[in-house]
Amino acid sequence: MIVVMKPNASEEQIQKVAQRIESYGLKVHFSRGTEVTILGVIGDDRIINRDQLVHMEGVDKLIPVLKPYKLASREFHPENTVFEINGIQVGGERIVVIAGPCAVESREQILEAAQRVKEAGAHMLRGGAYKPRTSPYSFQGLGEEGLRFLKEASELTGLPVVTEVMDIQTLPLVAEYADILQIGARNMQNFPLLHAVGESQKPVLLKRGMSSTLEELLMSAEYILTHGNHRVILCERGIRTFENFTRNTLDINAAPALKMLSHLPVFIDPSHGTGRWELVEPVSRAAVAAGADGLIIEVHPRPDQALSDGAQSLTPERFSALMQNLAPVAQAVGRSL
Ligand code: PEP
Ligand code: MN
Repeated sequence: MIVVMKPNASEEQIQKVAQRIESYGLKVHFSRGTEVTILGVIGDDRIINRDQLVHMEGVDKLIPVLKPYKLASREFHPENTVFEINGIQVGGERIVVIAGPCAVESREQILEAAQRVKEAGAHMLRGGAYKPRTSPYSFQGLGEEGLRFLKEASELTGLPVVTEVMDIQTLPLVAEYADILQIGARNMQNFPLLHAVGESQKPVLLKRGMSSTLEELLMSAEYILTHGNHRVILCERGIRTFENFTRNTLDINAAPALKMLSHLPVFIDPSHGTGRWELVEPVSRAAVAAGADGLIIEVHPRPDQALSDGAQSLTPERFSALMQNLAPVAQAVGRSL
């Protein structure tokens, strides 16, 4: 951080600011210009309370140099983070595709969906048992029963499962069944929940909040990483904009930008990012071309009967076509499917 003093700051004020910085165990480098003095802070200054420092007499402004997150940053960890989940490498050369329905609706539905996405080449299965729905009158998920059906589908197909955990109370139960815990967009800044999934040591798929910046997403990832849980996947799922033709606006920038800022694997959710099944395949191709490490896609055996997110759900046939059309894009950017 750089502290810029006011042009008329006295020597006493400059020294007081330097002492305050040194009280954190940091060092100060003085740079005295013809009009202003600048104090360069030497060391990891994320511990400084900046709101206090700007109040000190003679201080004009603070210019941060370090990013507010550390463990999630590429500076801290230059190589890509790569980890395995049941033999599937995440963040490596191969693009990982997670597919399945928005919600587990019945045993038959999830077993059929799992089999169909497996046949089409998906690597993992998705399905919500606890659903964050805007309306309390909408289908809320099957809860524990849904988790049991999901597990059965996983055992039958060999696909690891990704499912959402909505609160701390149900975390132990969800963690028993899930291979990856999904933190939904609405919970991206539920800090106690981030603490808890950090402690769980289970892999986490962290979705970007619908009104969150990339920096806020990385700060949320930092919460999980500080507990020694390094298996975190960042997921762009669309943000709120003025556009209403699509459900959200998928921020394609997020893929290369997050790869630049962070070493963590980056996935894209083209289903929630668009809200329209017709757009899911082209946006999936764009995501892979832009450097995403994986995709999470909603597939339902019968979207016309889906209890949630039918409009954005692909039929198994369309998902199979997507997988075939995605392979040459992956190859074009030096990846495989
Ligand atoms: C979901 O994956 O079904 C979901 C609810 O996602 P999001 O939190 O991104 O809205
Ligand atoms: Mn959904």
